Order: sequence, then structure tokens, then C-alpha cells
Amino acid sequence: MKKNNNGGQVAANTSTEAAAGAGAPSEGKTGVIFAYGSAFKADWPEPVKVMMEKIGTLGANHPRDQVDKDIVNEYAERMKDGAEFPPVVIFRDRDGLEWVADGCHRYEAAKMCGLADIKAVVVEGGERDAILFAVGANAEHGMRRTVADKRKAVTVLVQDKEWRGRGVNWIAQQCKVSWDLAKSVCAEYERAHPEETEDGKDKAKKCKRNGKEYLQKSAVSKPLPAHIVAIGEMRELACKARAVVPEGDAKLAESLDRVGSELHEILGKATGAKCRMAEGLQVPLNVYQHKLVGGISATPEFERKGLATHAVNVGLGCGHQCSYCSSPSLRCRLPAYGELQINPYGSGFAVIDPKSADRISKDKPKLTADNTVMLSTCDDAWSPEARKYGVGRKCMEVLLKETTARVRVLTKSSEVKDDLDVAKGSEGRVMVGLSTGIPCSREDVAKAVEPNASSIKDRLQALKQAKDQGFGTYAMLCPCLPLVADTEAALTVMFKSVNDCGVSDIWLEPVNARGMALKNTAMALRLAGLKAEADAVDAIRKEEVWSKYAAALAETAVKVAEAMGLADKLHILLYADKITDPDRERVKALGDTVILLGKDTAKAKDGGNSEAGDEGGETADGGKPDGNGADENAA
Ligand code: SF4
Repeated sequence: MKKNNNGGQVAANTSTEAAAGAGAPSEGKTGVIFAYGSAFKADWPEPVKVMMEKIGTLGANHPRDQVDKDIVNEYAERMKDGAEFPPVVIFRDRDGLEWVADGCHRYEAAKMCGLADIKAVVVEGGERDAILFAVGANAEHGMRRTVADKRKAVTVLVQDKEWRGRGVNWIAQQCKVSWDLAKSVCAEYERAHPEETEDGKDKAKKCKRNGKEYLQKSAVSKPLPAHIVAIGEMRELACKARAVVPEGDAKLAESLDRVGSELHEILGKATGAKCRMAEGLQVPLNVYQHKLVGGISATPEFERKGLATHAVNVGLGCGHQCSYCSSPSLRCRLPAYGELQINPYGSGFAVIDPKSADRISKDKPKLTADNTVMLSTCDDAWSPEARKYGVGRKCMEVLLKETTARVRVLTKSSEVKDDLDVAKGSEGRVMVGLSTGIPCSREDVAKAVEPNASSIKDRLQALKQAKDQGFGTYAMLCPCLPLVADTEAALTVMFKSVNDCGVSDIWLEPVNARGMALKNTAMALRLAGLKAEADAVDAIRKEEVWSKYAAALAETAVKVAEAMGLADKLHILLYADKITDPDRERVKALGDTVILLGKDTAKAKDGGNSEAGDEGGETADGGKPDGNGADENAA
């Protein structure tokens, strides 16, 4: 027995085995290493001998597409010659039933040789635990998985109702495959088994919009063509490699930047993007056009937030490119992404409906002066691509001319100030909000996580200008990142800057842990050399740490606001279902300043004594019947 560089056992093997560890083997014809290590956990027990007759296989739930007979034969030959193989992994339940979760080729070979026992690491767990382990077991060691194996692993999970319900992200993580591949297999499965998707998430359901009841269309995005997925993955890999280039290797960093940019351009051409925007942008955009359905929609979520009764959205992907944006995870299932050949979780693209103003004009409910329309809730009507087509300006014009409602603007672009002339004479009906969740002393962070948005300084100036022109103004401090915007000092600076702009209200929110938001934000910060900030974001990826950070942020914000005499202006938005029980009490103690949102709202309000949670919160399947996306504040 040898040891590989990772400390794992090594056995000689065939040419089809993947080299998972480093170091050259000294035995075997082709001599490729077969190592174990990364799939094994440090606290697992020492291997023992297990009787072959007691072991069961996962059968149809085995994630290998097929057992490779040549490999089994070769292993059997070598076992007969006395070669020692790494232990297989077996899960054993309380009744003593055992399943092979890793090492099916070794198990089959041992069976072929008629061995009475096999060396195994035996861990506690039932068949389902074994399946969950098995689907990701060969990602980093052992015989390399084929595409068919990866697809089979995803299929094993998606055909289980409970696991399917956990969503594409979770499945991709468990199977250690790309999101695109998981998404593609899930979508195929859903199409092939419509009868199995009646859990309300996948099938048409009734929705109300503007008082009318609609059957919501099944929102399943078409899988992307394989070559588009591959180009996207190459681009992502170039970006990942760029993020970890050692400091000082400017040449390599430059090469990877160039490769990433070229692949991005190729992706735009291959998918028929309408144009490419690069000038003045840190992240160049492939811009797509897409005609959205519906105009002004009621928004119970924003009503609960105290922000608006109705909403207008203008696209399906915002060019400000904020790393923490919630929109992708809220709208990822919309069929439009499949039609446009876009990975909703990808970056470097924007989708705009240039005729949004016409859409609003044609589809508007009866609104009164008591209503407020938010422009916008899932995107930004002053993003670079929206500005290119004058979308925000035109929408504001239509809303003011054709309705009597108030208009609440929310943007991260200071250029909104240039369009306020269309609201002249209606100053009392317009509230302008510039989203600024980062203190102006940390423009470096803003540049990293909101690369195509205006600088914080410019946003604050625009807010001040709006106030000076007689418009109502409000602050949206969202999201307040850990280490950057959750300390007393940072909150003091932020409260002071927006208060100096004459805001009537201050809304504040932690960074939400949806979809890829935290992972992307940590990576963006790392890429910008902001290691401590990146580590702080990585830390809150654990649910219980996020909960503590969110509760502490709320407490600190209330304390600072009280000290500054701003307590009456402060509203803290918190998704209750993400708060763990011990932190609920802390949040409850802050009273009405905290607006609890999400499915578990009632539970949080009464400290967990309520049976049923409130409806609302995130709607991962796209939310609205009009296909405009979920009812959520992405900014
Ligand atoms: S968070 Fe808002 S401004 Fe940023 S990308 Fe998302 S929609 Fe655009």
C-alpha cells in the first residue's frame, strides 16, 4: 500500500481511472492513481472488514450511469493477485442494513472474485443518506464521472419529491455538478413527469393580479444548448482562475482577463445578444431585449414593507451587476431565460424591455392617489441598458400622466437626477430613493459588489439634488454587508449621509442568503483584494451565523438610530424564516421597527408559537402571472 500526497491510500489502476491525488504510482501497466481522500471525512472510523453477503447496493438509485465491466474485470484480476484497494464506503442503519455508497466497482470486483468480505469505512445512516453521499462521491476522487454519470446523479435526486422540492441549487451542490447541468436535467424531468409536479411549485396555479384571477403559467426554463453551457462554463472558469492568481503575477491576471472577456463576447454572439455595452462599465454587458407581459401589478410584499402598493418592472436582468442581487434566484425559472439562452445566474448580461412604458400604458389597474407605484422592485429602471432606451424616464412620465398614484423611484444610478424634469409640477407625488448600503468611505467595496452602479458619493449627491428640487426622498440602506456596514461606526456614517439629504424614511436590510448571492459577493470581494470582507461574507453562508449577523445588525441599527434621534425614520426589513429560534427573541424585542417578511412571519412575531406562517416572501418560480418576475426588492 502506498500513500498519495494527500495521505490517501493508493492502488495501481487502469487508464480509465482518474488521477485524484498527486504522485506517480509504481505499479500497474498504465499506472494511474486511484485515491480517496476528499470524499472522506476526518472523523470517520477506521476501515473494518464487512461480510459481502450483508451488503446491499443502491440499485436504480446508484448514481453511476452504468458499471464499467472492463474496470470490474481488471479490479477482480488484481484482487486475485492480492492487490490492496482502498476501502469502500458503507452506510449502516439501525436495523443493520448496509448500502455501498462509494466503491461500486470494487464491490462488484470483490463479488466476482467470490470474496467473503471487503474492507469498508462504515458510517451510520440509512439508504437515503447513502444516496446523498453517493451522488457527489466521485466528483473529486476515484473513477472520473462521465457526463452520463453526472446526469444520472441529478436524476436520482430530482425524481424524489422531497429532494426535488429543495431546488436546483441544492441538487447541483449535492451532486457537485454545474448549475446548468442540474437545471437542464431537472427541466427535462419536469417535462417528462408533469403528473409528479403538483406540489404547487411546478404546476399552474391561480394568482390574482389587479383584482382578476389568472392561471399562472408553468414557469420552467428550457435547458440551454450544450455549446452555450460549455462557453459559459469556460468563462466562469477563467473568472475563477483570475480570482486566485497569486499577487504580483500581473501578466497571468491580464491574460485571464482577456480570455474571460473574449469568451464573454463569444457568448453574446452565439446567443444573439442585441448589443454589447462596455464603455464606462466595469463589467461589460451583453444586452438582450425581451417583451415582458403585463404592466402595473399589485405588490403585497412591498405593501408589507411599507414601500408601495403596486410595482412596475422593466427587464429580466439588471446591468448594475450587483453580486448580491436576489433577482436571479427569484426569477430563474422563467421560460424567457431558456428562449434567450441565458443562465439567469450568470453575469455580464442584461435583459431589457425597451417598450415598458407602452406596456404600463396598456395594462394599468384603477389607481388612486392613495396608491404608490414602485419603479421598480426586481430590477433598476436607470440601469445602463435601461438608460440607453430611456426606459425609466418614459415609465415615470406615463405613470404621472396616466394615473393619479404616487411614484416611488428606487435606483443605484445617480443619472436619475437628469430625468427628474419629467416630474416637474408633480414633485409632491414622487419619492426618490437611491440605494446606498455602503458607507461613502468604502467606495472600494461598492466598486467590487456593485460594479456598474454609480459611486456612493454620486448617489448621495443625486439624492440631495432631488430633495433640493422639491421631491420627497428616502434612503434604502440595502444590503448592509458584514464588516462593511454592520458596525456602529459604519451605520452612524450612513445614517448621517442620508439624513443630510433630507430623507423622510430609512429602510435597512441585511444581505440575503438567496441563490448565489453570498458566494458571488465573497468572490467579488476576493477578486478586488478585499480578503477580510470576503471572509466575513463567507462566514455568514452558514445559516446560524447569518441569523446572528442579521439580528445583531438590527440591534445595532436601532441603537445608532436612537442615539442620533432617527428612530422614527428607521424600518428594518428582515426575512423571518431565515432567523433561527434563539435570535427571534432579540428581533422581537426591537418592536415595530423591524418589519418581518417571508413565509415564517407569524412564527417570528409570536416567538415560534404559531402553527402557520404568513404567505409571501420569496417566490422562486417567478412569482407573478405576468412573467415579470417575483415580488421582491432586488436592490
Ligand atoms: S440589486 Fe438592484 S441594482 Fe443591483 S443588479 Fe439587482 S436589480 Fe440591479
